Amino acid sequence: MTKATRESCRAVALIVCALVFSARTGHSAVSFPETLKDWSWLALQGTSHQVRDVRVSAGHLVLTLTSGSAEPVVAGDDVVGFFFSGAGSLEYTTDDPLELPVVAYNVKKNTGLTPTAEGKGLAIRDRFEEVLWLCGSAALPNLPPDAAGAALDARFAKHREKFGRVQASPLAHQFTAWRLNAPDQPFVRAEVSGGTEDLLYALDGARRKTESLYSLRKGDALPDRLYRTVLSSRPFGSDWRTPVFPTVMLTAVDFTLTASDGKDMALSVTETLAGGERPTSVVLLDLEETTFGRSELDPRHLRVKGVFDETGAPVAFDHAKNEIAIGLRTPLAPGATITLRFELEGDVLYRPEGDSYWMLGTDAWFPQPDLSGQYYTVHATVKVKKPFIPLMPGTTVRRVQEGDWNVLETRVEKPVQFMVVLAGKYAFEEATKDGVTVRVASYAMKNPRAIRKLMTLAQKIIAHDQWFLGPFPFPEFNVIEINDLGWGQAPPGVMFITSEAFNPIGDSTNELYSKGINERFAHEIAHQYWGHVVKMPSFEEQWLTESFAEMCAGIVIRDLRGKSDFASLQAVWKLRARDATAIAPIPLANRIRNHTKPSAAWTARTYLLYAKGPWLLNTVREKIGDRKFLDFLRSCQATLAWRFGTTEMVEKVLEAVTKEDWKPFFDADYWGTGMPE
Ligand SMILES: [Zn+2]
Repeated sequence: MTKATRESCRAVALIVCALVFSARTGHSAVSFPETLKDWSWLALQGTSHQVRDVRVSAGHLVLTLTSGSAEPVVAGDDVVGFFFSGAGSLEYTTDDPLELPVVAYNVKKNTGLTPTAEGKGLAIRDRFEEVLWLCGSAALPNLPPDAAGAALDARFAKHREKFGRVQASPLAHQFTAWRLNAPDQPFVRAEVSGGTEDLLYALDGARRKTESLYSLRKGDALPDRLYRTVLSSRPFGSDWRTPVFPTVMLTAVDFTLTASDGKDMALSVTETLAGGERPTSVVLLDLEETTFGRSELDPRHLRVKGVFDETGAPVAFDHAKNEIAIGLRTPLAPGATITLRFELEGDVLYRPEGDSYWMLGTDAWFPQPDLSGQYYTVHATVKVKKPFIPLMPGTTVRRVQEGDWNVLETRVEKPVQFMVVLAGKYAFEEATKDGVTVRVASYAMKNPRAIRKLMTLAQKIIAHDQWFLGPFPFPEFNVIEINDLGWGQAPPGVMFITSEAFNPIGDSTNELYSKGINERFAHEIAHQYWGHVVKMPSFEEQWLTESFAEMCAGIVIRDLRGKSDFASLQAVWKLRARDATAIAPIPLANRIRNHTKPSAAWTARTYLLYAKGPWLLNTVREKIGDRKFLDFLRSCQATLAWRFGTTEMVEKVLEAVTKEDWKPFFDADYWGTGMPE
């Protein structure tokens, strides 16, 4: 097929999709529960047809139904796609220069497919035996009306069961939101199986504005679960440099959490949601359904007892696959706000390694939109059974005892992401200096001298950061001991340490922080600036938090510990940056996957964000000198204060400070896989 035909083919498929549905929306009034039910119970229409050499396409995907049988698929009364069984072939191409290196890496390391060079891009090809194609329109070209095909019911049922095990936002949520929020936007899903790989294709012009191809893989401990591995994902109707904002923004969270002395908790959370750029009838929010304790063999369940509007009336919802879909009775208009109350309960208080604390971390233990929709103030009350005491971000309103309970109430007045709650057999000391209260909490009897040492270290770093970055963003800062640092985001006004930090002899917290406890403290404290004052709108912009925090840690190490410590840190950055630079550009660090050797993917990701990113910033520093570089950092903090930052904005600030053109530098070494010497 020539390029021109392929493109017109694509265009036709998309236009059919968009037109059929936008026309239909005007006529029938559709409700959330009905639409959700229709898309949950997709069915074959009843007549199977023989097909031969039929092409169907969307975006950069072309499927050829070589020979077999196909039958229209209906959601309620609407034909929304087709199911095919027989022999066919798939071709997906990408020529997006940003993603090419990581597409090649992920396809090679995670599938039995071989990406092949195609013009300036890559093509991924496979054969298949079955396809479920959904785009809300009757996309069944060239169906011979009189040639009856094979009965497909059994195969269709089996296909639905299999793809129903994919651990991702359910198809019914996706299409219900598309149908009721943005039916004029292209929205296509193809579930392809029977070839070398099972593949899932999604073109989302409505919500995420991306076109993606995933391979599917069985879980290790739970083989009945299928997990997606992203092979390609590129902006659709958007671009890499501009963040996509969700249909709603979470602007305030007010919750009361009551924790038993076991693993159960009850949570009542009232959320204020602000309307995005178009009226929204269906809100999709992340909300964990099943989480795991120590392993996948210890499942914990979060249940939604009800969702209620301002008047206390129940609101229709569906909670599945770590997502809650909510059907609003009246669409939320752009700029308008709505408050919803969620009543939740579950056995989700997990104590790592049987230790005497639990944490509700940076995962979605309360309903929340994508990163760029998390911009909320917090008012929180947490009640835990004695002897546990609660800890969480925010300015303390009250810390009291009520009978058998220890109670903490706090407020976060600035908009934040990553709210957390912990409780345990903690003891803490606190002190206020330079307007900031530092609280060091540990959960086993610790040497008071070690606690005071950590307190002094935190205060010193905060004082230094205030000097070169501006006022510390929160009135209270908690240094909290936990069992295992893991790799969550830095919560507002909180940093975590492990018990090693209390040990005056061995103070190397882990391999990543080559300069030990000082670097870790400097890095985590810098996150209060890079992560909360300047926020990342997506994981593609994560260097704004990780690399900038690490660069600032380097400056603190240099100023408080000496030049030779900084020099050896720089050497580590450069070495590790070189190691990972070819695999992906920094913005796609989080996309690297390697199922045969997961540690290789982890290393590449961390080296890009914690070594190559700081190395780029250090290169800028060496080019423009220390004074101008500190001006640049301070200027970013001032210009982007309490906003979502982007690399484009940071580049503009740098150009304003230096009066130089930095585009070639960013294009080659940030957006590309280049590496400055
Ligand atoms: Zn970090």
